[in-house]
Amino acid sequence: MGKPTGFKEFKRVSEGYAPVEQRLKHYQEFVAHLSDAEATQQGARCMDCGIPFCNNGCPVNNIIPDWNDLVYRGDWKQAIEVLHSTNNFPEVTGRICPAPCEAACTLNIGHEAVGIKSIEHAIIDKAGENGWVVPQRAKKRTGKKIAVVGSGPAGLAAAQQLARAGHAVTVFEKNSRIGGLMRYGIPDFKLDKRLIDWRMAQLAAEGVKFQTNTFVGKELPGKGIVNDAKKVVSPAALKKDFDAVILAGGSEQPRDLPVPGRELAGVHYALEFLIPQNKEVAGDGKNPINVAGKHVVVIGGGDTGSDCVGTSNRHGAASITQIEVMPRAPEQENKPMTWPNWPLKLRTSSSHDEGCVRDWAISTKEFVGENGVLKAIKCVRVEFKEGKMVEIADSEFELKADFVFLAMGFTNPLAQVLDAFGVAKDGRGNVLATTEGDKCYQTSVKKVFAAGDMRRGQSLVVWAIREGRQAARAVDEFLMGSSLLPR
Ligand SMILES: Cc1cc2nc3c(=O)[nH]c(=O)nc-3n(C[C@H](O)[C@H](O)[C@H](O)COP(=O)(O)OP(=O)(O)OC[C@H]3O[C@@H](n4cnc5c(N)ncnc54)[C@H](O)[C@@H]3O)c2cc1C
Ligand code: SF4
Repeated sequence: MGKPTGFKEFKRVSEGYAPVEQRLKHYQEFVAHLSDAEATQQGARCMDCGIPFCNNGCPVNNIIPDWNDLVYRGDWKQAIEVLHSTNNFPEVTGRICPAPCEAACTLNIGHEAVGIKSIEHAIIDKAGENGWVVPQRAKKRTGKKIAVVGSGPAGLAAAQQLARAGHAVTVFEKNSRIGGLMRYGIPDFKLDKRLIDWRMAQLAAEGVKFQTNTFVGKELPGKGIVNDAKKVVSPAALKKDFDAVILAGGSEQPRDLPVPGRELAGVHYALEFLIPQNKEVAGDGKNPINVAGKHVVVIGGGDTGSDCVGTSNRHGAASITQIEVMPRAPEQENKPMTWPNWPLKLRTSSSHDEGCVRDWAISTKEFVGENGVLKAIKCVRVEFKEGKMVEIADSEFELKADFVFLAMGFTNPLAQVLDAFGVAKDGRGNVLATTEGDKCYQTSVKKVFAAGDMRRGQSLVVWAIREGRQAARAVDEFLMGSSLLPR
């Protein structure tokens, strides 16, 4: 373990953030990873518990106590080896994972958790700076061909694992750049896209082929779904040309708010704003939505909503209000009740700190416009009685709004893609496939597998990586009879 008395001696240290007025001038990352000395001290705080709850709390089961100890001892090279043994993309999770591991840390019961995510961030950045992340090419080729549909974290983790097992992998992506929501959903100020390019170079050197601007299916997606496809490949062609197919197309159908006035100019799904912004930052053309000097209302209190807040502040919006239908969560969780699980508590992101009004327990009744253009929204306050939402009498009010961004989550994957493959769906419209047992990650269609948000529904990058890795092992076993890939 780190230092036996470390948790008593040292406090948790947070990563440094650039001041708000500075970081609002650009779209670059503004969080500085820990210095070597700070990371060493954080590592020293790890108690190497008999039962490492952090390891179980982390969806990819990162072997956290081991790399904490290695960082404490200054063996960074071994630390990245251990980190990479369970996580293909720590440069992403070390930046944008909500860190359920820290909620599960034993120190979190009575003190502050070890800064696990900040140590992960420091390890991968040091590995990158020192050139320790090199291609791991398979020694033998199997002659098997695998198609991966979708280049988000699930598809890429699966592709990397399968290429390392010696298979020929092609990733099909309908958009013009690789990375799924890591590339186009999450803003640059949270995740520098050069990191995705850097990791893609490793995958390419390991033999993964990328086919962008290519939609797999029959019917192209409609409004609200980004699609840069110039070419369509049918599921039948894919099944004929490849020995196995992994569906990793994410959960792209945004939840709508079909109240009067939904058709007004100025009402958009969040990704209609965020994706063009990421494209603009990448030099791929101007974002058609400009909220400079405008009143913005973001409906939905999660990560996507928070990213709309951060982006609107960088545009120079006149006002930003984020509303949420659920009641305000408590500032502090009830630790004896919740530990080691992910607790319900108020979460304030760096984007919130940059300026926005937040309000809770509000339902939107109508979008109000003039000459087809949004001017305001009509709302009502609500409360929850016996699990049911009820409106509070005489609590109606209006909010000025030139733009509304709907950030209320995603309901399901694109149905037309699943229907084109003919795979069975679960009750929520996701691909039906289990994660355990003989046929894990297999869909109802022979040799077609599924992983990530397309199988589990809207989730997190770290869960997508887990599913991509596990699906890769399932495919390897299916093709070869057994697999040495870790689960
Ligand atoms: C705005 C926003 C912010 C988020 N922030 C965070 C965060 O801070 N931390 C976190 O952990 N998670 C965050 N998430 C969630 C996270 O990004 C997703 O859970 C994760 O990316 C899912 O990975 P995936 O590989 O399953 O799918 P995706 O990342 O959605 O990738 C799927 C890819 O498949 C492609 N595709 C789909 N259908 C086809 C087809 N038929 N043919 C070809 N290509 C196809 C899509 O274009 C897409 O590129 C955020 C999500 C959003 C929307
Ligand atoms: S991937 Fe997320 S949950 Fe796992 S160790 Fe890193 S920050 Fe924690």
